[in-house]
Amino acid sequence: MTSAPQSAAVIGGGPAGLMTAEVLSAAGIAVTVFDRMPSMGRKFLMAGRGGLNLTHSEPIERLMLRYGDAAGRMQPLLEAFPPSALIAWAEGLGQATFVGSSGRVFPKAMKASPLLRAWLARLREQGVQFLARHEWKSWDNGALAFRDGEGQWRHVTPDATVLALGGASWPRLGSDGAWTRTLEKQGVAIATLLPANCGFTVPWSDVFRQRCAGQPLKNAEFRSWRRSERGEAMITQYGIEGGAIYALSADLRRQVSVDGVADLTIDLRPGLSEDKIAKKLAKPRSKGSASNYLRKALNLSPAEINLLREVYGAAFVPDSVLLAKRIKAVALQLGSPPSLERAISTAGGVSFAAVDAHLMLHAKPGVFVAGEMLDWEAPTGGYLLQGCFATGVAAAKGALAWMNVKDK
Ligand SMILES: Cc1cc2nc3c(=O)[nH]c(=O)nc-3n(C[C@H](O)[C@H](O)[C@H](O)COP(=O)(O)OP(=O)(O)OC[C@H]3O[C@@H](n4cnc5c(N)ncnc54)[C@H](O)[C@@H]3O)c2cc1C
Repeated sequence: MTSAPQSAAVIGGGPAGLMTAEVLSAAGIAVTVFDRMPSMGRKFLMAGRGGLNLTHSEPIERLMLRYGDAAGRMQPLLEAFPPSALIAWAEGLGQATFVGSSGRVFPKAMKASPLLRAWLARLREQGVQFLARHEWKSWDNGALAFRDGEGQWRHVTPDATVLALGGASWPRLGSDGAWTRTLEKQGVAIATLLPANCGFTVPWSDVFRQRCAGQPLKNAEFRSWRRSERGEAMITQYGIEGGAIYALSADLRRQVSVDGVADLTIDLRPGLSEDKIAKKLAKPRSKGSASNYLRKALNLSPAEINLLREVYGAAFVPDSVLLAKRIKAVALQLGSPPSLERAISTAGGVSFAAVDAHLMLHAKPGVFVAGEMLDWEAPTGGYLLQGCFATGVAAAKGALAWMNVKDK
């Protein structure tokens, strides 16, 4: 006689954990979701503030490559729960989606709250129990040990456990990475948690910082040692951040870790060749200011002109060829990201070598891992949530197989 499927504990009520709970409860498992915060899905709601980029519409072969070194391990998981499945799932919860101009997929509501509300209601209907303010501390004689909001201990011994504890960015939303110590004690290999999709420090002068912090550099091309990205960045008090920098952040972070600094080159006018720019600058400068001249000739913004001044000591030089070269390649040296807390996401985490193909920990049979706490990273563009949902589904299926329960 096969033993009857019993119960599962899902620890972490973010997108990965909730997706796991959905698959497990649909198969008839009694699921309890534990979270240390007073409510579920806080980071998911925060992601909704930026419109909730759920996934990306590019072909799956290209999408896979966004997961860098982890692409090989992520591939079967993404194929089993591809963007089309995620879109169908969101639409099944009443959230129509659309593809934005860059191929990114969003719910039409452009926020997470209606989706999360409908999702939690469906999970409750499927019998999922939610225990908020329950912080998982460790295992105690084989049982999961939680401390609740009143400081009381609760011990649970489910048939399967799924850890979906997130990374360590934005810790006030719940994920603080404290689990790394607990799992390391169990012999689980963990790659150091590092900031991903993050800004970088730049030693700006006080004058530049005061004048330009908060101003964007728009429609520029940003180059790391390995590749380039067109888009926007924001000058900040501490350095530089924004979409284009996030896209290069894995490369930049690696260079900082090896060389102590990373080279970032900015082409302020990627749509114009150096020759064209030099021609536009060939007209002699009249009595007006350098800023006025550059604004009129090339429509350079005050932030761009100040950046030239910051990097080269002067925004203008009479040699139009040299000036064109400078505008096409403003060279900055970046230092480390300011902190993991401020990053959009986390690189590092539970090593893929520590889990089997079903995301079960070799060191803890019956314990599965999903979401951002696994050692993969991806740029913004919907790849983060896509990765979290796909690993959530995979961990749930692994747990069902472990409990000998048929997937529905
Ligand atoms: C500002 C911002 C915007 C973003 N926008 C997007 C976007 O548009 N598109 C996109 O793809 N991604 C986006 N992301 C990233 C995305 O939100 C995360 O990758 C995703 O939420 C990770 O899901 P997860 O379930 O793995 O972890 P989380 O969402 O972090 O959930 C983990 C949960 O575990 C709980 N937990 C942690 N430790 C314990 C413990 N010891 N005991 C009990 N509970 C615990 C936490 O409280 C938390 O609720 C954004 C992130 C940020 C910060």
